Amino acid sequence: MSAVTVDCPYCRQSVTVTQGEDYAPQFHACPGCGKRFIVERGASGTKVMKEKEAPCMSNPECREIETSATCEE
Ligand SMILES: [Zn+2]
Repeated sequence: MSAVTVDCPYCRQSVTVTQGEDYAPQFHACPGCGKRFIVERGASGTKVMKEKEAPCMSNPECREIETSATCEE
């Protein structure tokens, strides 16, 4: 696990979050405004996205749905 500091996409407060060692996007809740956002580590740095703005590939819940759907085929 590694800690990264990002700016909340809603209220711009600095939030330190803990990411796993893999590059899977994760949900985090802002302690300032309480909203959920997605942090994704990539080769070019850390991306922060609002939940509704994230593409499916960057949305942990969407990824889970896609994975399970693929398994059923
Ligand atoms: Zn916030």
